[in-house]
Amino acid sequence: MKTVDLFNLDKKYADEMLAHAVSAAPNECCGILAGINNNVVKLYRTTNTERSPSKYKINSQEMFSIYKEISENRWELLGVYHSHVHTEAYPSPTDVKSALLPESIYFIISLRDPERVVIRGFLIKKGKITEIELRITG
Ligand SMILES: [Zn+2]
Repeated sequence: MKTVDLFNLDKKYADEMLAHAVSAAPNECCGILAGINNNVVKLYRTTNTERSPSKYKINSQEMFSIYKEISENRWELLGVYHSHVHTEAYPSPTDVKSALLPESIYFIISLRDPERVVIRGFLIKKGKITEIELRITG
């Protein structure tokens, strides 16, 4: 995928990520966004095998079948999302260390303030964090 400074995220996917984060709390949720030309076409809720309020790991079998479907459809793995239950929507040192997809956007949903849920997006390349401007559309 082409690297972008601005990413248009359809409101229905933002709402879906938020709903997932809320239903997984007090643990972190995680999932994948697949798409074409920076447009999301499918959201996958995945299992956080860590079952933890402070870290996540996507179930590897689920990841395998998602990769398969993405490649069969000639989609791209646009993004990986997960939630932060008690902290801000910014990559933790563990998130940075475990970020293995330099072309994908890492979306983080923060539930820290239930009155004001925040979703932010980042590129994480070789330990360097760059924020992407998210525009929620639709
Ligand atoms: Zn995190």
